[in-house]
Amino acid sequence: MKTTDDLTALAHDALATLGVPAEVLDDGPSALMARSPLTGGTLLGVRSADADAVERAIADAHEAFLAWRVTPAPVRGQLVKRFGELLRAHKETLADLVTIEVGKIRSEALGEVQEMIDICDFALGLSRQLYGRTMPSERAGHRLQEVWHPLGVVGVISAFNFPVAVWSWNTAVALVCGDAVVWKPSELAPLCALGCGALLDRAIAETGAPAGLSQVVIGGREVGELLVDSPLVPLVSATGSTRMGREVGPRVARRLGRSLLELGGNNAVVLTPSADLQLAINSIVFAAAGTAGQRCTSQRRLIVHESIVDDVVARLASAFDRLPVGDPFEPGTLVGPLVNERASDAMQAALAAVRAQGGEVVTGGERVDTGMGGVWVRPALVRVPEQAGIVLQETFAPILYVLTYRDFDEALALHNSVSQGLSAGIFTSDQGEAERFLAPDGADTGIANVNVATSGAEIGGAFGGEKDTGGGRESGSDAWKAYMRRSTNTINYSGTVQLAQGVDFSV
Ligand code: NAD
Repeated sequence: MKTTDDLTALAHDALATLGVPAEVLDDGPSALMARSPLTGGTLLGVRSADADAVERAIADAHEAFLAWRVTPAPVRGQLVKRFGELLRAHKETLADLVTIEVGKIRSEALGEVQEMIDICDFALGLSRQLYGRTMPSERAGHRLQEVWHPLGVVGVISAFNFPVAVWSWNTAVALVCGDAVVWKPSELAPLCALGCGALLDRAIAETGAPAGLSQVVIGGREVGELLVDSPLVPLVSATGSTRMGREVGPRVARRLGRSLLELGGNNAVVLTPSADLQLAINSIVFAAAGTAGQRCTSQRRLIVHESIVDDVVARLASAFDRLPVGDPFEPGTLVGPLVNERASDAMQAALAAVRAQGGEVVTGGERVDTGMGGVWVRPALVRVPEQAGIVLQETFAPILYVLTYRDFDEALALHNSVSQGLSAGIFTSDQGEAERFLAPDGADTGIANVNVATSGAEIGGAFGGEKDTGGGRESGSDAWKAYMRRSTNTINYSGTVQLAQGVDFSV
């Protein structure tokens, strides 16, 4: 069992291994104190960025962008290739920081770093595939084409629960697109950010890319606000709560900047009578209790057919009761800590609302004393009536609400009744139901799965959600287009003036 001193020593070793310069460590009055949810203890202080430092970081990134944008994209790809190699070599060390700062169990922390490696592989290939189109021109001797150009400095604001992967989705793609990146990580995970930044700086130096392409600015929302307001930041990619997105989106729009918003989820699985129940239960337990319910894609609602609900609840309760809660560094642990006391308060408030609204806590929800300090809870399985209002809100903790349905239309209506629209799943052997779930009038989410629950997306697809989730898409597929500007070109090689739409303007 690790103490705060052990974790501090481990964090120091990790930062040194990753090449974080000692001068960023700072115990002064304006420092941001990194802490660990494993013990609740303070680890070490890091220098936070004041307004001048943020302005300098943006200016340096912009300067680097001016050179980077004319570097051929396949050459830019060599930077993410090298970064991916460094991530492979330092996977364990970076995963240590993820576990120390946000409490992910070992395999999820390693998985998060693997996601970074995967997006580097993807971005390397993408660096040769930033395709534009050529269209037939209506004018003889003319050519019409679209090309994609680098956009500028991308401001990345990230949430605590994916302290390394979300930045890498943005950064690997932005770099091959010819952009520079200024990152404002969560105030709860500054060490992860410094570690990532140091590795990328090393890749930049080794490949001869312009210094300054990657900047990390440490601090709270006031630092994020400086990115949001900067005219030198054409795109702000912000990941976090819907509350944050409602502040950031309009503010960026006011200066006619672009924002890419990845916000809260309230994800559900529909469980039908024809489903393979064992497959479903195993998938649901991971989606609901994995990462201690602290994923944007965590499953929060289970919409189950009334004919199987008692059996399903009994099986889930038995699985929830057996979940090992404890030290995430221990190999057998499946549920680590909540990030802080505030998360536990939110969970208890939600469970109180469940009781007040006629629901029943079937099992879990209680604090677990691991002897380490920190905040630990047993994931809660809850039955609620259809009209319980608490189900409509995202509580960032492991609570699974069980609702029942009679016919499939009712299941779909319940599914789509929340304001968030991130991720969905259906478990069924009925192809008709599966297809309806994926149809235009089916699940209204950005991600919809069949016989796969809500969490654990791959990087190859575009990631993001609709409604209060913000509408952004990042990671794979054609999400790269958000990081570039499109230029439509008409080239006249005819030697004559021909106006579009047959307009005659002879002089
Ligand atoms: P949060 O909204 O509290 O903070 C996220 C980030 O935004 C932090 O870096 C914070 O400093 C910054 N921030 C907050 N207010 C700001 C403002 N007004 N201007 C600029 N920056 C501001 O979220 P959190 O508690 O760190 O993370 C949990 C939330 O994030 C959940 O709602 C979860 O669903 C969501 N999330 C969404 C995704 C996704 O891809 N959709 C991924 C991860 C987390």
